[in-house]
Order: sequence, then structure tokens, then C-alpha cells
Amino acid sequence: VEDRVPEKPEPKQIPEPDWEALRSEFPMMGDLMYFDNGATTWSPECVLAAMDEFERHYRANVGRGVHRLTRIATQKYWHAHEKAAAFINGSAGTTVFVKNTTEAVNMIARGLSFKEGDVIVTTILEHHSNLLPWKALEAKGVELRIVGLNDDLTLDMAAFEAAMDASVRLVTVTHASNVTGTITPIAEISRLCKKYGALLAVDAAQSVPRMPVDVEALGADFLSFSGHKMFGPMGTGVLWMKEPILEPLLLGGGMVSSVNDDGYVPADGYQKYEAGTPNISGGIGLAAAVEFLTGIGMEQIEAHERKLTDLMISGLAKIPGVTLYSCKDPKNRIGVVSFTVEGFAPHEIAEHLDDEHGIEIRSGLHCAEPLMRYLSAEKGTARACISFYNTESEVNTLVAVIRELAGN
Ligand code: PLP
Repeated sequence: VEDRVPEKPEPKQIPEPDWEALRSEFPMMGDLMYFDNGATTWSPECVLAAMDEFERHYRANVGRGVHRLTRIATQKYWHAHEKAAAFINGSAGTTVFVKNTTEAVNMIARGLSFKEGDVIVTTILEHHSNLLPWKALEAKGVELRIVGLNDDLTLDMAAFEAAMDASVRLVTVTHASNVTGTITPIAEISRLCKKYGALLAVDAAQSVPRMPVDVEALGADFLSFSGHKMFGPMGTGVLWMKEPILEPLLLGGGMVSSVNDDGYVPADGYQKYEAGTPNISGGIGLAAAVEFLTGIGMEQIEAHERKLTDLMISGLAKIPGVTLYSCKDPKNRIGVVSFTVEGFAPHEIAEHLDDEHGIEIRSGLHCAEPLMRYLSAEKGTARACISFYNTESEVNTLVAVIRELAGN
């Protein structure tokens, strides 16, 4: 009998995007070299056009009434949720539009009705937005366990495992750090959560703009991200949940299917969590950002940014007087590059880069003070965050300017 060797599918040939041409999609693109993408990204024309179209041509409220404008707005807003859900392979769950990641995390912290004795496991990498809502629960008798890092600034998974037991109700972890760039092993953490019966919340504010994110593959119960960090509008974000188990944070119009003298029946799906008139143009703009990113390809973006990140880190690492606070494992980091230069405060570095060279970076404590103390960087760092619209030449310029500043 002939051996039946299954035919190997041809590897999919995805054409390399024209990165230079993509730059012209961004009206802000000009002489400035923008490396503050971890804080906020720029928006392309298609996002601005989608919001403009709503404002000029079909501005109306959603989910209310039957006239033609409200029908168009409702349909587009609904579709925007579907696009955002598909982007993270979350169509089977509930995709709620929120203001930002911070709001999403607070909705989880308040919506799960924590009680005395519950344990929450998190990490030292967290942004204040994924720390303070949990710390506030300590007043209720909830215990917070914080897991540290290995020497290469990857997450210490042995310590993670040691922090887990049957009393853990929730694990909440950043998918990628906004200081060290560390990517955390969410799928591995999810296996631990399943073993101990804990829920898993993922702060994907920094990962969703930079790499493919698949909630099924990650095994997340909740995932949060911000529109303004992924080329979408300000004041937009997503809270995805596998099951709609949260109590809604806000009550009011738009989130009920009926109200009687004794109470109310909540609406189905995302509407239960979006009380009041939502940011409709923002939601529609966010969906346009999703389509834009899908058109480029998240694998392509990840690979392109990795090249630029390695170039920046290897360039800065060679400069005497520069200390890097970035994850040392190239496979497990995003393009968030934190560093200091001996003899200069982080704000002085950022001011020099801006004033003398038109290079925009972030400086300070990056809303992650416990992490800065852990890294012995109490005075903060300078931080350059790469996006796909940055170029090799911009990275080389930044490295050359830092070399000059460091006196080399
Ligand atoms: N989580 C991480 C990892 C972040 O980097 C940020 C913002 O920098 C946030 C949460 C908070 O995002 P937002 O300000 O959009 O709520």
C-alpha cells in the first residue's frame, strides 16, 4: 500500500507592505520623528474619514427610534463591535466599547463583586491602570499577590506558579509591558488559571497595536485595550469578555430591555454594559483602525517592528553611559525601549531630543511607579516606542543623537 503523505500546503506568501507608502496615510507625518507610540499613536486618513462621515452625514443616536439616520448609525455602530471582536478572534464573546483600558479594568474590578478572602495574582510589570483598581480591593480584605521578573526582565514563571492556589479568584496580567516591553506568556498563565479555577484578565493595551492577539489562543476571560494606542480615536477602547458575567458599572438608558416598578431587565450583549449615549463616531473610527491594521497584517507589523526594535536596542546598548531597561529576550519583547543616559535626567533627554532634533519620546515614570522602584529607576527613564510607521533612518538618527549626548 502506498504511503499516503498528506500534501503540505504551500506557505502563504503575504506581500511585504510598502512601509514608506503607508506613512503618507498619516496626516501628522512631517518633519517630526514620533517615538511616543506607547502613549498614543497617530490616526490614518481612513479613521478620520470614518468619523467625519458619521458627523456630516448620519449623525444620530443609536438603538433608539426608527428613523433612517438612527438606523444607519445603529447598524454601523453594531458592525464596529463585530469588527473589533473579529480582530481579536473574540466573536464568540461580548465586545463592549469603553473609554479606554483604564475604564475596562475598573469595570472588571467592580463588576466581579470581590469579597474578603479572595486572592488576585498580578505582576510587578503592571501599569497603574492595571494595579490601582485591584489595590483598592485590599480594603475589602482581598489579598493581592505580585509576581516579579527574571534577570533578563521576562516574567518569573516559577514565582507565578508558586503564587497560585485554589484561593486565587482572578489573575490579571499585562500582555506587554509599557516600560520594559516584556511580552508575558499568557497562554501558559491561562493553563495555570484553569488548573486552579481562576479567571484571567489581560491588559492588552500595548500588545493589540503591535502583534496578532487571539483571545481563544490566549485563553483569556477578559481582554482590554485602548483605541488611541492602535491608530484609532481618543476616548475609545474595548473590554472583551468570554462570558458576560460582570455586574454593569453604569445603569441607565440604553442598557435595559424593559423597566418595571420592581427593577429592570438588562439588554442582551454589549448593550448591557454601555449605558447612556456612547461615543458613536469613536466606535466607528475604531472599527476603521481595525480594518486598516487588518489590511496591513498584524504578523507583518510585528515582524517589521521587531527589526526596528532590535536595531534600536543594539545601537543603544553599545553606548557607554546608557543603561537599558528593556527585556533582554528579543523573542519576548515589543518595541518599547526604556533607557537612561548618565548625567541627564529623563526629562532633559526628552527635551533635548525634541528641541534640537524634532524627536518625540516619553520621559518619566510611565504610570508604573512600583515597577520603576523594582528596576532601581526611581527617577524614571526615557522611553522610545516604535510603531510600523517609524523608519530605520529615524531609529539610526535617535541612536546617533543619544551617542552624541552621552559624549561618545
Ligand atoms: N495598560 C498599559 C500596559 C498601558 O501602557 C496603558 C497606557 O499607557 C494603560 C494600561 C492605560 O491606557 P489608557 O490610558 O488608554 O486607559
